[in-house]
Amino acid sequence: MIEDLIKPNIKALKAYTIEAPPCSIRLDANESPYGFPLGTFRLPTNRYPDPGAVSLRRFLAGKLGIEPECILHGNGSDELIYYLLTAIGGPVVIPTPTFAMYRIIAESLGEKQLIVPLDEQFDLDMDAMLEAIEKNNPKLIFLSRPNNPTGNSFTFGRVVEIIEKADILVVVDEAYQPFSTRGDSFVDLLPRYRNLLVMRTLSKIGLAALRLGFLLGDKTIIGAINKVRLPYNVNSLSQAAAIGILEDEQSIDKGINAVIGERDKLFAELSKLKGIKVYPSDANFILFKLDINGSLSADALHKKLIADDILIKKLAGGGQNGSSGPLDNCFRVTVGTPKENAAFVTSLRKIIEETNK
Ligand code: PMP
Repeated sequence: MIEDLIKPNIKALKAYTIEAPPCSIRLDANESPYGFPLGTFRLPTNRYPDPGAVSLRRFLAGKLGIEPECILHGNGSDELIYYLLTAIGGPVVIPTPTFAMYRIIAESLGEKQLIVPLDEQFDLDMDAMLEAIEKNNPKLIFLSRPNNPTGNSFTFGRVVEIIEKADILVVVDEAYQPFSTRGDSFVDLLPRYRNLLVMRTLSKIGLAALRLGFLLGDKTIIGAINKVRLPYNVNSLSQAAAIGILEDEQSIDKGINAVIGERDKLFAELSKLKGIKVYPSDANFILFKLDINGSLSADALHKKLIADDILIKKLAGGGQNGSSGPLDNCFRVTVGTPKENAAFVTSLRKIIEETNK
């Protein structure tokens, strides 16, 4: 049987599926509602891209005030998670619920995962974390801050405590940091801690089509992870386009600030609705839980929204075994344009009111 040639861990793996019903209001993937003009590029199509993305890394280094050798470029940060787990490996600590790819990639590479539940506020449960670290001698930990899909930022001091107490590589995934108004990025702490790595992506700030992510950290560690990077992982067009677009900092900031303003409005609107619990967010999405005593199932709500041409992300589980947990009956809605958000709130209100009749 040719199926027997597939590794057992891959056979057992549940594929990461991206639903795509043809809705015109797409609030499911944490993209920005604001894109940028691409411009025209004179690129030699017969030549491979610059393997080291030298100009782009130099450009970013200048912006971030770090050395280019401290930056690794990825085809999206997903690829960097893959490289981290390939070069460093497990056991890997994954405070849960969080971004699903940490677990999926660890599983596909056969690396051991230590799933540690977050506390009631979706913050790091320090006793559980430090115990898991002490007992299992992990090499790596992923901390999504702000956390996807819960939207909150883990308490700064708790993350620092892990960096200081644990002898492991701490990856602070700052995919959503541009939307946090706390002003406490871990990039500023890089010179202080050699075991700290910070991951950033351009996907959430209007450049998802380019597939560009960056890992920032100690030169030696970045150099080691760079050894497993595929030679031409970021294409020429993405390298050139990113520099052109990022140079216009004002436009980037305008998009981010518009999303932050709309997020706060959306939060206020959702908080007025009976039958859902809304969680505060530092990101470009909001988590909410359906709470109408079973008279409207999460499945039914999802389908009714799709019938109204609106797609949001239905969540479930998020517990240690994945089958049930704190995300049951939860949804994650990405902040869209004012018009999209208004359409979503109107539809959700209508569905809830119809149910309560
Ligand atoms: N980290 C987190 C926390 C995310 O939510 C995502 C995207 N959903 C990623 C990383 C991956 O982003 P990308 O591969 O588009 O850079």
